[in-house]
Amino acid sequence: MSQKTVLIVYAHQSPGSFNAAVRNVTVKALEEQGCRVIMSDLYAMNFRANATYDDIIGDWKNPELFQYGEETMHAWKEGRLSEDIVAEQNKIKEADLVIFQFPLYWFSVPAIMKGWMDRVLTQGFAFSLEKMYNNGVFKDKKAMLSFSTGAMPTMFRPDGINGDINVTLWPLQNGILHFCGFQVLAPQIFWCPVHSPHVARTAMLEGWQARLKGLFAERPLTFAPCEVTHSWHF
Ligand SMILES: Cc1cc2nc3c(=O)[nH]c(=O)nc-3n(C[C@H](O)[C@H](O)[C@H](O)COP(=O)(O)OP(=O)(O)OC[C@H]3O[C@@H](n4cnc5c(N)ncnc54)[C@H](O)[C@@H]3O)c2cc1C
Repeated sequence: MSQKTVLIVYAHQSPGSFNAAVRNVTVKALEEQGCRVIMSDLYAMNFRANATYDDIIGDWKNPELFQYGEETMHAWKEGRLSEDIVAEQNKIKEADLVIFQFPLYWFSVPAIMKGWMDRVLTQGFAFSLEKMYNNGVFKDKKAMLSFSTGAMPTMFRPDGINGDINVTLWPLQNGILHFCGFQVLAPQIFWCPVHSPHVARTAMLEGWQARLKGLFAERPLTFAPCEVTHSWHF
C-alpha cells in the first residue's frame, strides 16, 4: 500500500485539552502505520475566519457588486487567491484523508473552522456546478469529523432533548464534505469528556486509537442518491 497522507484540521485553543489529547493520539497512531500527517492548527496559526475582500489579490471582476463566491472563483482560476488560502488548498491536494478535530460549538464546528471551510473550499477548487456529491472534485479522498461534546449521548438521540445527532451533522457531512465529493467516514464522537471520569476518557482515547488502525478500510457513509436529477432552474 502506498503511503497515505492525512491532513488534520484542528481547532482547540489549549494544548492541555481533551481535543489536543485526541489529536496527539491520532498523529502517533497514524505515523506508526506509516502515514504522513500534516496539520492545520487553526488557533495557533491565527487563521482568519472571515471571508472578505482581502482573500482576492488584484482587481475585482465586478467592482459594482462584490460577490465573494464569484470573485474567489475567478481569483482561484487566475492564481490570485490570498497566500493563506492557497497554502491550505495545497494541503488538501496532498491529503488522502482529512480529519476535522474540534469541540462541538452550537451544534456545529467552531467559527474558526467554519471560516476555514468558507475560505478554503473555493468554487472551482472544491466544487463546481458540474462536479459535486458523488461526482465531486474530491471523490478520491476521504474526510471525517472527530469531535467532543458537552452533551451526553442520550441527549442526541432521536427522542433526546437535542434531537438526532445525524440531523445535527447533516449540514457538515452532506452539505459540505459530501458536496465537495469527499467519501465521508462515520464521525468519531467523544461524548462529554468534561463530565466523564478520567478512566472513561482514557477508554475513549484507546477506542479511537483502535479504530484508527482500520480507518482506511472503512466503508463511507451513504447519502441521498445522486441519480435523482436536479436542476438549477427555479
Ligand atoms: C461556544 C461553545 C458552544 C458549545 N456548544 C455545544 C453544543 O452545541 N453541544 C454540545 O454538546 N456541547 C457544546 N459545547 C461544549 C463543548 O463541546 C465541550 O466543552 C467540549 O467538547 C469539551 O472538549 P475539550 O477538549 O474542550 O475538553 P477539556 O475541557 O479540555 O477536557 C475535558 C477533560 O479531559 C481531560 N483530559 C485532557 N487530556 C486528557 C488525556 N490525555 N486523558 C484523559 N483526560 C484528559 C482534561 O483535563 C479535562 O478534565 C460548547 C462549548 C462552547 C464553549
